[in-house]
Amino acid sequence: MTDQVAFDAIAATDHQSPGGIAHEPGELHRLLVDSIDDYAIFALDPEGYILSWNAGAHRLKGYVADEIIGQHFSVFYPPEQVKRGFPNFELREAARVGRFEDEGWRVRKDGTRFWANVVITALRDPSGGGLVGFGKVTRDLTERRRAEEILRLSEERFRLLVQGVKDYAIFMLDPAGYITTWNAGAERIKGYTEGEILGKHFSVFYTSEDLQSGKPARELEIATATGVYEEEGWRLRKDGARFWANVVITALRKPDGSLAGFAKVTRDLTDRRAAQEQAMEAARKAAASDEANRAKSEFLAAMSHELRTPLNAIGGYTELLEMGVRGPVTKEQVDDLQRIKRSQQHLLGLINDILNFSRMEAGQITYDYSTVALSSVIENVGHMIEPQAALKGIKLTFESCPPDVVAWVDKSKLDQILLNLLSNAVKFTKEGTVTLDCDWHDEQRVGISVCDTGVGIPSDELERIFEPFVQVGRSLTEGSQGTGLGLAISRDLARAMGGDITVSSEIGKGSQFRLTLPRTPST
Ligand code: ADP
Repeated sequence: MTDQVAFDAIAATDHQSPGGIAHEPGELHRLLVDSIDDYAIFALDPEGYILSWNAGAHRLKGYVADEIIGQHFSVFYPPEQVKRGFPNFELREAARVGRFEDEGWRVRKDGTRFWANVVITALRDPSGGGLVGFGKVTRDLTERRRAEEILRLSEERFRLLVQGVKDYAIFMLDPAGYITTWNAGAERIKGYTEGEILGKHFSVFYTSEDLQSGKPARELEIATATGVYEEEGWRLRKDGARFWANVVITALRKPDGSLAGFAKVTRDLTDRRAAQEQAMEAARKAAASDEANRAKSEFLAAMSHELRTPLNAIGGYTELLEMGVRGPVTKEQVDDLQRIKRSQQHLLGLINDILNFSRMEAGQITYDYSTVALSSVIENVGHMIEPQAALKGIKLTFESCPPDVVAWVDKSKLDQILLNLLSNAVKFTKEGTVTLDCDWHDEQRVGISVCDTGVGIPSDELERIFEPFVQVGRSLTEGSQGTGLGLAISRDLARAMGGDITVSSEIGKGSQFRLTLPRTPST
């Protein structure tokens, strides 16, 4: 409309005398055109030379009327367009069809470019129809173009970003649920390429149960009503395999509030679900095995109690007979009674060891840690074993241990380990010495060794002696009775407290057991 007014005005000016009266319509039009600031409005003669200039043209192009009137309008075009003959082409087209419109780069006086919308209108003599010139209206759309460009770039970046995302299927549905976009994650998770899936209904991802219950449509309804729908459930891949999905459907609305479609984001949680199920299964199994362990140790405790009662009776009556309370006994009978007594003692030891071992296995042993001075432990345990050693004529020595050498252990467990090592040393030594010694220590650890000059252990059996129920080289120690559990229990206890037991030995020369323990709580 404005353009038309402008052209009329331009056309009118050509037919007005310069001294026309201000209130004449032609003069008014000229004033109007001259003062329009937002549009460059000017007239060209039939060859394209500039005849008039307005405020908008000055503002847009930078020239004042005096310097531009009479020049050819191609000065506003970038050189490459002038070279192509574009300005003259525009005029020819306008002359031919009456009007030519274009958007493109134009040049200001200072050489800078701006994005212009240009309309050129052919002006014809109302009487004869001959071409008298052209009206040209130019608008500066640089800002709009920049904003459009920024928007386009940001949309493009966003599209590339979404398309490249691999961990999430991100795609769009139209209001009826047909798929309109697809990304790399969707292809990876669901297995369809973009070409295969665009235009298909999103219900292809649903299981037959879900289809029967009308779930896909329900989900869109909820998203439409509330803005968003979210759930976790089974979905189908292209090959028909199920995967556990987290699904978020968001309703997209146009500025006028009408529904534009839906954005759908799907994550494949199959691995996470499998991991959760595994963890639950492991927890179930652990609970079941805890239960089984408790039942087992209750059973063993009850059984050991039941076994101990008759065994104690056997011991008691054997002692009565041995002491001659029931009448005189011969030397042979005393020997037999002592054998019965040894077997009875052995059996009692066995029951204790089995009970201990099963508690250990079931992880039911609790540890009461404290800082323990080793010198006092060594002395105590040494005194306990002294009678046994004396009986066999074995020399028992405990090397003195500096009073400040300590270990961070459960004292009763340490006693148990040392007693076991010492009684083994005495048991497997015919004559000679047994030495108990805290032989080294550093900042973190302390070592205690139990050495004997006994029968020794075959080198290929050294590791095996720590296995439960293993007894090696019994022929070397006739009469020795054990369970083969002592070392297994001792090593487990030592390791549980952060230490260890190792052994070195030589047949016929003796053995050295080494217990290492932490000096301080581990951090
Ligand atoms: P037990 O002493 O009840 O047989 P242990 O587990 O304490 O069970 O010991 C396992 C085996 O290791 C013993 O049967 C014995 O063959 C061997 N052993 C342990 N200590 C010594 C030692 N000081 N000298 C020689 N052999 C030993």
